[in-house]
Amino acid sequence: MTTPGNRDHDSTAKAGDCCGHAPTKEDLASAAGQDVAECPVMVGTPVIKSQAEELGLYRDHNGQRYWLCCDSCGPLFDADPQLYATA
Ligand SMILES: [Zn+2]
Repeated sequence: MTTPGNRDHDSTAKAGDCCGHAPTKEDLASAAGQDVAECPVMVGTPVIKSQAEELGLYRDHNGQRYWLCCDSCGPLFDADPQLYATA
C-alpha cells in the first residue's frame, strides 16, 4: 500500500501587488525637512529616507542607494536590481 504524499504546500505569493503601505500625508508632513525619495520598485511611492533606513528598507547598488517603500520591495529589487536601478 502506498500513502499519498500529504501536500500542505500553501504558496501565497502575490505578484504585482507589492504593498498597501505608503507614507500618509501626516508622515510626509512630519518628515518635512527630511529627504524623501521615490521607491524604485513601486514607482510613484514616496519613501522617507531616514524611516526606510531605520527599517532596513534600502539597497546599495552600483554605488547608489535606493530606498524602498515596504518589505515586499526588497526581494523584488534583489531579484532584478538592474530593472529598478535606473539613473
Ligand atoms: Zn513597496
